[in-house]
Amino acid sequence: MKACIDIGGTKVAVSLSSGTGLDLAARRSEPTAKEGDNSALARQVIRMVDEACFELQIEPGTVERAGVSSCGPFVMQSGLIEIAAPNICGGIAGPARGLPNDWQTALLEAPLRERFREVRVENDCVAALEAERRWGALQGFDHSAYVTWSTGIGCGLCVDGRVLRGKNGNAGHAGHMFVSDNSDALCGCGNVGDVEAITAGNAIARRYGADAPTLFAHAQRGDIEASEKVDELCRVMGRALYNLIATLDLERISLGGSVFWHNREYLLPKLRAQVAGKLPALTNGCELVGAGLEDRVGDYAALALLV
Ligand SMILES: [Zn+2]
Repeated sequence: MKACIDIGGTKVAVSLSSGTGLDLAARRSEPTAKEGDNSALARQVIRMVDEACFELQIEPGTVERAGVSSCGPFVMQSGLIEIAAPNICGGIAGPARGLPNDWQTALLEAPLRERFREVRVENDCVAALEAERRWGALQGFDHSAYVTWSTGIGCGLCVDGRVLRGKNGNAGHAGHMFVSDNSDALCGCGNVGDVEAITAGNAIARRYGADAPTLFAHAQRGDIEASEKVDELCRVMGRALYNLIATLDLERISLGGSVFWHNREYLLPKLRAQVAGKLPALTNGCELVGAGLEDRVGDYAALALLV
């Protein structure tokens, strides 16, 4: 029995899988634990796995493998992964960011290894990329990326058929590329004016005083002010996608994440327009598409780590 664990800046989802297909059972989701000491998140994950076992009436000890798809970045502590994510650890950007803790990191791999025989932790976008390459829109594409536009912004990158990981498993943190001098855009990572600070779901709420669903609803109803704000978001996100294509010579980018997915028909043409025509030798033949696994990329991401 396998535990599939998806850790995001906003919520944590856990499900169990017994087979080799896309079978996920006893799925549950909760707001990400951010209070107490910095083992709170790992304890939450283990409790949720135990609750899923209870629901399926199986012995918790039979769940021996855990795949963890987590927002990053990661830092290594004695060879084990801890999470240093700006949307979880309030100590990184300090009190201005408004998180209810002063953690520099959240413990993860060490407590999970005490509970599970096998643990594989990957950045959520690396895991999502693996899922999209295995079952989704990136099957057969050896030069490809998965990009999430959600609470945060992240990428999983594949070049020449190889998924990029980097020295601490943090390759693809392109959401923290600097792109603007905007002084109103503080990222949880401490940067002012990076892609995530300007376009992420949590940034939309901080910068515009309306959460992402409200902003997009107004824009799609034709509100000019809201449309202009969305166009600004797409200009920055589109440039980030172009930068990835120019850097890695990609043939396809698959997009997911709650902000994108809930507004995909509205956003996809705007993003494509930002890429189209720029340095054609690099951008011609590169497609932007919605995630093949739709809004379940996150669920299957953790499963892809255990196949
Ligand atoms: Zn950042």
